[in-house]
Amino acid sequence: MSVEKNNQPMQDAKLSSLDTLLQYQTIDMIIFKEERAYLASEQMKQHKVCDSNFQRATDHLLKLNAETVESCRSILDAETQLEKLVSQNKQFLDNTNPINLVQANVTEMALAEYSDKLHALEKNTNKLFSRLSEITQEASQLMSHLQKLNAEKAKLRESLTLQKREIEKKFQSEFLELAKIRETLDPKLLETYSAIRRVKIPIVVQYCNDGSCSACGIDVKAELYGKLKAKGDFAECPNCHRILYVQ
Ligand SMILES: [Zn+2]
Repeated sequence: MSVEKNNQPMQDAKLSSLDTLLQYQTIDMIIFKEERAYLASEQMKQHKVCDSNFQRATDHLLKLNAETVESCRSILDAETQLEKLVSQNKQFLDNTNPINLVQANVTEMALAEYSDKLHALEKNTNKLFSRLSEITQEASQLMSHLQKLNAEKAKLRESLTLQKREIEKKFQSEFLELAKIRETLDPKLLETYSAIRRVKIPIVVQYCNDGSCSACGIDVKAELYGKLKAKGDFAECPNCHRILYVQ
């Protein structure tokens, strides 16, 4: 009898703690539903699409920038090759009056080879310049596309902020109530609650008489042995990680 009496205050504290947690969840569920609707709204989806389009366009612009750097380097390389080609063939280019047929043949062959190389170099350089001009055009189109996306994003963000403020206004008293309750709850319990809340709700669920979790249905009797004995006891479900309580 005296043992029971000594246990009473502890039991009361546990029950009051459970009541507080369940009260917190009841209020939170109302906000959660509205929050989910806000997160699943058409505008939120549009904002995500806009965001990923913006990212894709930025990536493409960066690729074009890298290609520009590479093309400019290749043009400089071509310039060096041209200088080298001219200096290597200087003797043939200067020698316009060969003294005999052999020399004339050698000069002719060298100049033909020089001309081929020069032509290839010219062709390659022209290709590079033409690609650079394409890049400039593409980049300019991308820039204006990015500007449009940016403006669209800002507009959507503004509307989403307004919606969020409306929710905050609509549930002002609930938010205040939750903040008050939070101060009385065990921070660790609150941490577990918040972690689960990100993915699923309800968070605080009943531990069934048969030893299973009422949310996921898994038998947790053995794993939680000794932890869920009396009314008001809490424990984390080892399967779905919700907070289990004994009613
Ligand atoms: Zn579970």
